[in-house]
Amino acid sequence: MKNIKDLLEVPNINSSDAQVKKILYKVENSLFKSSLKSEYLCVCSGGTTSSCARNGLITLDLRKEYNQIHFEKENNLIKIGGGVIMKDLMKFLESHNKTFPTGLSKLPGAGYILTGGISPMSRRYGLAIDNIESIKGYLGNGTFISLEQNSLNSSQKLLWEGLKGAAPFLAIITEIGLKTFQSHPIQIIEGFVDDDELSKVINLAEGFPESLSLQWIYAKDIYIYIFAEINNDSDNKITKNYLKKLEKFTSLKIKNYENYNQINFFPKELDLFELNKNNHSEVISLLGGDLKDNIQSFIKCMKEIIKEKPNKSCYVASQQLGGKTKDFDHKSSFFIHRASTWKPWIYAAWKKDDLKDKEVVLKWLNESWKKLKIFFPKIHLAQIHNHLNSHEEEVYLSYGERLSELKTLKNICDPEGLLS
Ligand SMILES: Cc1cc2nc3c(=O)[nH]c(=O)nc-3n(C[C@H](O)[C@H](O)[C@H](O)COP(=O)(O)OP(=O)(O)OC[C@H]3O[C@@H](n4cnc5c(N)ncnc54)[C@H](O)[C@@H]3O)c2cc1C
Repeated sequence: MKNIKDLLEVPNINSSDAQVKKILYKVENSLFKSSLKSEYLCVCSGGTTSSCARNGLITLDLRKEYNQIHFEKENNLIKIGGGVIMKDLMKFLESHNKTFPTGLSKLPGAGYILTGGISPMSRRYGLAIDNIESIKGYLGNGTFISLEQNSLNSSQKLLWEGLKGAAPFLAIITEIGLKTFQSHPIQIIEGFVDDDELSKVINLAEGFPESLSLQWIYAKDIYIYIFAEINNDSDNKITKNYLKKLEKFTSLKIKNYENYNQINFFPKELDLFELNKNNHSEVISLLGGDLKDNIQSFIKCMKEIIKEKPNKSCYVASQQLGGKTKDFDHKSSFFIHRASTWKPWIYAAWKKDDLKDKEVVLKWLNESWKKLKIFFPKIHLAQIHNHLNSHEEEVYLSYGERLSELKTLKNICDPEGLLS
């Protein structure tokens, strides 16, 4: 029987079922003292990943003590705690008629921002990390840091870049300062499509302006969202032109929203996949460029992957990058795959106490990854898998030419390996 005190209430079921050794809520000096140094510490913000709690390990749950949100009206900056979830950030910003490029779900916490943060709005506003103005926190060695983009000295520059995309390896972040943007109406064109229609929409999307982006999910059926932000007359005209091109897709519906915060992507009601509380799951996120002439072979590959998926819960979905995410200085962060257009992710779930099922499902995950690698050879390290065999390869495919700099930073910031 599990002791209720040893359970962490988080959205990720693997983590919420973990028998943690202890839960801490505040960053205190003792955390970095010798008794803990030899142990690995899990950090929890939104608690949406399988790495925020593990059997027998200590979790630092930032949600209680680091949930502050403060808006600086005069410079449109918002300062949030390291334990703030995106739902609360969006709700707060909505009351100021502002917005931020959050992702497809409001559940994730600061981990979303620190690991890159790919939003349907990223093609216009950049990744979440591209909008970080300041960072406060503690390095794995216990040193307090307070960095501001506009007043970095030369010795802080590499750390600043590393924290943007690789923070979980280096530090516990307790405050992030973010740029915010004026809120605008959103138009969504959504619905079920077949394989042929998906290939046509992907082809169209690879020519989208930065106000539009495509997201799709391929489970039993395929569902798409074309996201359009309407800032001005020009956006309106562009979207209308695309709507004409989409008229032949008769199952697509147009929905209008006052602002980004009101959209719910992939809701349960659509019954796209099964979200089962008795399942454990893992997710791997890939990155790759335009599909161009390979769209047909990609669709063929997807059909095979879906045909072989082991149960109703597993699926593959994708987001679109490009525009600003490609334009941003490649050296500005540890998100190095700036040439990427697509971020597909593979979601794999199994019956939680069934080791055989777990084996089958993880085999499907790895085989699907192998097939998709041809199109999407890189990784977005949005989930830390240091409990899986794939971890080392994922880290290599995420940080590539900056891996040696990451190792240098790790040696300086977290020499005892307290963090990921
Ligand atoms: C439903 C859903 C939808 C998603 N949609 C998107 C999307 O649209 N775009 C996208 O880019 N990603 C998306 N993700 C991925 C998600 O952003 C990442 O998995 C992210 O790491 C989750 O962060 P978290 O704080 O919720 O998770 P947690 O499990 O709490 O943390 C994840 C990792 O980040 C580290 N971490 C968290 N907070 C801190 C901190 N303050 N300081 C240091 N380290 C920290 C922890 O070490 C942990 O290993 C989605 C995930 C889910 C579950």
